[in-house]
Amino acid sequence: MARRLYAPFFAKRYAGNSETKVLHDLDNEKRECEIDRIDSRKNVSMFEWLNTALEMGYRGCSYCMPEFSAGKSNEK
Ligand SMILES: [Zn+2]
Repeated sequence: MARRLYAPFFAKRYAGNSETKVLHDLDNEKRECEIDRIDSRKNVSMFEWLNTALEMGYRGCSYCMPEFSAGKSNEK
């Protein structure tokens, strides 16, 4: 899987689930991300820049963005 050109993804890199506040990196998407199970009409927010999403309270998906997932961001 990879970036999606169509709405609401518009080829941007980061897909956030606004309901769960989990962010996915579509350039590193794993099957476990289940992007297509997110209700894209209501619950997808797209970000081109990672910092923007993090500032809005998103955390990384533990499959495609483990370095930004909950519990790891405060380590080391
Ligand atoms: Zn993911």
